[in-house]
Amino acid sequence: MNECQIALTGNPNSGKTTAFNGLTGANQYVGNWPGVTVERKEGKWKQKKNVLIQDLPGIYSLSPYTPEEVIARDFLLEQQPEAILNIVDATNLERNLYLTTQLIETGIPVVVCLNMMDIVEKSGKQINFQKLAYSLGTKVVGISAVKKRNLDEAVEKTLQQVESAEEINYPQYDKRLEAALNEITGVLGTTVSKKQARFYSVKLFERDPQIQKTLRLNSEQQKEIEEIIKITEKIFNDDSETIVINERYDFIARLTALCAIEEDELKLKLSDKIDQIVTNRWLALPIFALVMWLVYYLAIQTIGTLGTDWVNEELFGSIIPNTVQSWLDNWQVAGWMQSLILDGILAGVGAVLGFLPQLAVLFLCLGFLEDCGYMARIAFVMDRMFRKFGLSGKSFIPMLIATGCGVPGVMASRTIENEKDRHMTIMVTTFMPCSAKLPIIALIAGAFFPNSSWVSPSAYFLGIGAIILSGIGLKKTKIFAGDPAPFIMELPAYHLPQLKNVIRYSYDRSKAFAKKAGTIIFVSSIIIWFTSTYTFTLQEAEGDQSILAAAGRLIAPIFAPLGWGNWQGAVATITGLVAKENVIGTFGILFGHVEEVSENGQEYWQALQSAFTPVAAYSFLTFNLLCAPCFAAIGAIRRELPDLKWLAGAIGYQCGLAYVVSFIIYQIGHVIFENGTLGFGTLLAIILIFTGIYLLIRKPKNLGKTPVGVLPITEKG
Ligand code: GDP
Ligand code: MG
Repeated sequence: MNECQIALTGNPNSGKTTAFNGLTGANQYVGNWPGVTVERKEGKWKQKKNVLIQDLPGIYSLSPYTPEEVIARDFLLEQQPEAILNIVDATNLERNLYLTTQLIETGIPVVVCLNMMDIVEKSGKQINFQKLAYSLGTKVVGISAVKKRNLDEAVEKTLQQVESAEEINYPQYDKRLEAALNEITGVLGTTVSKKQARFYSVKLFERDPQIQKTLRLNSEQQKEIEEIIKITEKIFNDDSETIVINERYDFIARLTALCAIEEDELKLKLSDKIDQIVTNRWLALPIFALVMWLVYYLAIQTIGTLGTDWVNEELFGSIIPNTVQSWLDNWQVAGWMQSLILDGILAGVGAVLGFLPQLAVLFLCLGFLEDCGYMARIAFVMDRMFRKFGLSGKSFIPMLIATGCGVPGVMASRTIENEKDRHMTIMVTTFMPCSAKLPIIALIAGAFFPNSSWVSPSAYFLGIGAIILSGIGLKKTKIFAGDPAPFIMELPAYHLPQLKNVIRYSYDRSKAFAKKAGTIIFVSSIIIWFTSTYTFTLQEAEGDQSILAAAGRLIAPIFAPLGWGNWQGAVATITGLVAKENVIGTFGILFGHVEEVSENGQEYWQALQSAFTPVAAYSFLTFNLLCAPCFAAIGAIRRELPDLKWLAGAIGYQCGLAYVVSFIIYQIGHVIFENGTLGFGTLLAIILIFTGIYLLIRKPKNLGKTPVGVLPITEKG
């Protein structure tokens, strides 16, 4: 047989990527919330290399509301894969079959794959496969993607289906709708192929604007079709799109009734009971705060720290430098070269890699929370809260993804249909502490606040807080005002996390982190070492005469009001734009001389403590957390925003907010905790706080079409 393409399609979170990995042996990242697969991926079936499997983004329908639905629909219509393997979450049949009815209409052979059969079986539910297959007019296979059960059989059945070339049975709707669809098919005549006639008739009936555009019907055809639609709308007394939606749901209701699915209460009850607590109106947020505190406590304060201390103090503190030093001495390497390797590369890269153990533990914890289904609940809880302020909970998913890296986080914003909400989410998503910012948090928490366990989680909540408050504030401006997009998301049943999944989640992200240390941080370390070791005349620098110090002093005054006007902090912040790990790498080179830290990290930390007061250090952390992200993330923001003006606005907003928040923290904190004197700065900080509060509680600027939405905000609570 020639090459054969099979497209995996299904709702978000139905297990497509898991199935894809099982079938192709690839290691795509598996997520337990919608919207993880933004672009499609291709792989070869392990059993037969001429069978290509496509992992398409998760979608709820073929009416392209979101960019992902466009990707999936265009692929199906234009590439015409030989078959569709429709991955259906069997624990959520009704919702999932809505897409199935549309996939069948594309005219491409469909095989329905009921996934998560392991959960269905455990819960005692029964699904009658024969009846379902008969009523759908497709083959139906039960699989468990995670347990790799029946996966290859599903592909074999699909191939059989392709070869048999049977006539396709489309779902049948109300006779009056069927009559209208037949008439439209008649009007279309040979404009579309016979195979695709059903799909295009339905879409034209729905008045799908993109389909109308691509088909380029003549005016005669357009007029006739419009008449057919109008008459049918009169008969049903409803608009055409709603008619089709209702008919699809009726079809599915008949189908599921026929297949008599029994529910076992027990398992559901347990999930529901847990949900009653963790999504409780009052308890949800405190529980979430507690959970995240615990995660950071484990990763940064306790378990992860053991690893990091060892790496910092033993591995990069003495073992590696001493070994390398003795090699270099043996080989009689020139002094400057020794300095480059020891004080530049090892100090910079080592300072970054030292945080790998903490990072790995953090990601193990986050992977665990995600895979067991807890994070999906948090998105749900956040949605409820966001909605009060006119925001969509969909914005929360990019934020969760951004805890790994801002780039996919920004890309995940594509799941948001509403353009204004999408742009806003793109602008604020990188406030989340990503893996590269984590070392900054860990370093500041460790060096300045060794006894307070709240400092590292506070950085996480600072990120979330910045996003939520920005959302509330921005929504009140003219540019972003409007109703939030509805957010449908099924809550997957809780399940024990798959060890493999959790480990892969942590491994993938830790690997990316280590890889960056070996590439971009490596190069940056060399540059920082060079510019901090030499003067402009290429003499060895004494004290603060280096090129870097001179450059740093130029910009340092900008940051003086934030409490850290020293050139080292300024330089670290700028190098952080290349990659946030550079902040730590730069400090490693500027403050930590490898020979001196061989005892333990004390000297390095002491050097830091003499350069920053604790409040200034926290202000430094805040600024680096919230200011413009690294170049890679800025690039992603550029791609997702309409033009450079928007990009400039986004970067300006991020840096501005970072500056204001750090300013407030330093000016107020310095007075309260460090006996600073009250002054003009304090006054300005207080004014800024009140301005911020005003921007958050003022009446929204005209909300456009719905004046009802302009409710005066009276009392809190
Ligand atoms: P996608 O969004 O459709 O690509 O879905 P994923 O492949 O990312 O899977 C979503 C979640 O469902 C992950 O947590 C998987 O571990 C889980 N999952 C996928 N297939 C199965 C299955 O057959 N059984 C169980 N219990 N969980 C599954
Ligand atoms: Mg996926």
